[in-house]
Amino acid sequence: MDTEFFELADYKKTGEISLSDEEKLIRAAVFLREGGLVAFPTETVYGLGGNALLPEASKHIYAAKGRPSDNPLIVHVADMESLRPLVKEIPAMAKILAAKFWPGPLTMIMEKSPKVPYETTGGLETVAIRMPSDKAAMELIKLSGVPVAAPSANTSGRPSPTTALHVKEDLDGKIDAIVDGGPTGIGVESTIVDVSGEEPVLLRPGAITLEMLENCLKEAVDIDPALEKPMDSGLHPKAPGMKYKHYAPKAPMVIVQGDFYEGCDGIEDGMKIYEELMKIVNAVKALVNENSAPGKRVGVICSDETWEYYFEEGATIPKEKIYKTESIDLRSIGSRKDEKSIAHNLYAVLRDFDDENIDYIIAEGVDPRKLGYAIMNRMQKAAAQHIIRV
Ligand code: AMP
Ligand code: MG
Repeated sequence: MDTEFFELADYKKTGEISLSDEEKLIRAAVFLREGGLVAFPTETVYGLGGNALLPEASKHIYAAKGRPSDNPLIVHVADMESLRPLVKEIPAMAKILAAKFWPGPLTMIMEKSPKVPYETTGGLETVAIRMPSDKAAMELIKLSGVPVAAPSANTSGRPSPTTALHVKEDLDGKIDAIVDGGPTGIGVESTIVDVSGEEPVLLRPGAITLEMLENCLKEAVDIDPALEKPMDSGLHPKAPGMKYKHYAPKAPMVIVQGDFYEGCDGIEDGMKIYEELMKIVNAVKALVNENSAPGKRVGVICSDETWEYYFEEGATIPKEKIYKTESIDLRSIGSRKDEKSIAHNLYAVLRDFDDENIDYIIAEGVDPRKLGYAIMNRMQKAAAQHIIRV
C-alpha cells in the first residue's frame, strides 16, 4: 500500500494550524472515517490511529504494528460528549481528573459500553480513554468525527516514535497516511490510571506524575505492583501492554544508577553532588572498558552535568554533546535539572543507537521521582531491568 505523507509545514513552524495544514488534516480524517489507518503526532509520542468503533480498523492496527491482539488500544476523543457513549458511566474520579488534566497526557481506564468492540479493548470489559492536547491531534480527531483508537505508531517491540521519520521507518507501506507535525514535546507515553474501581491505580507512569494525581484527587493513588517488578516475576500487570518487551533497543543495555537524588534540584551541597556523579561516571567508564572489543561499539547515554567528565583532562570538550569514535558513541541525553529534556530525547537516542548498530548500551540513571519515575520505567524496560547501583 502507498502511504501518503501530510506535512503540516506551518504547524511545525508556528504551532498554529494554517489553512493548507487544515486541508491535509481533512484528507487524513477521511481515511480515518472510512476505516483506514493514519499515524499522527500527539504531545506524548506519535499514535497510529483507526476508527475505534470498527473492529476491522482495530485488527488492522494490530497487524500493522505486529502487536499481540490481547494488548488493548487507547481510544482518543476530542471532547467530553464523545466520551459519554464509550463508557458505562463516567466515574466521579474521572470527572475530577479530566477537569484538571484533559486535554493532556493522561489516559483513564473505565468500564466500556457495548459500543466499543472487544477488538479495540483486547477482549477487556474496560476501555482506555485519552483526550490529547496536541492541536493537530485534536483537529484530526474532530474532523474524523469518530473516536480514534491509537497505540504508539511503532513496530511492536521498538521504542515509541517521537518524529514522523521514526513512524516512516516502522510503518511506511503498511498504513494509509502519516501526518508530520514535527517532533513530539513530552517524548514518553501517557500516564495510565485505572479509575474503574473503588481506588485509583497507577498502571503506567508518565508526564502527569503520581504526585499530581494525588494532589488533584486528594487521596493516595495505588501503584500496580507489577510496575515495580521485573517482567518475569509472575505478576500480571493490569495494563496488558506493560508485560511485553517494550521500548527496547536492539543492543543489550545496562543502567548505572546513583543515589544522589535528594540534592539534585537544590545545589546546596555541590561537593556531594559532584562526588555522587563521579561515582556514576567512573562505573560507566569501567563498563565501557569491560565491554570494548575490536570491531564493537559501545553507546553511552550521559547527562549535561556529567558530559565533561568523560574526556581526558586538557582535551577539547565537544559542545554539541555527541561524540563518536570507532569504539564509542557518547551522547548527553539532556540536563538532570530539566528532566523534560531527557524524556523528550530518550526514544530518539535509543533509535539512533539501533541505526548505528551499537553493540552495547550503558546509560546513566536519573532521579526516579516525578517525571523521572516515567523515564526510569522506560529505561528499565529498555534495559530488561539490568541495573547496577553505585
Ligand atoms: P500504547 O498506546 O502503545 O502506549 O499502549 C497502550 C497501553 O494502554 C498498553 O500498555 C495497554 O495495555 C494499556 N491499556 C489499554 N487499554 C487498557 C485497559 N482497558 N486496561 C488496562 N490497560 C489498558
Ligand atoms: Mg506502545
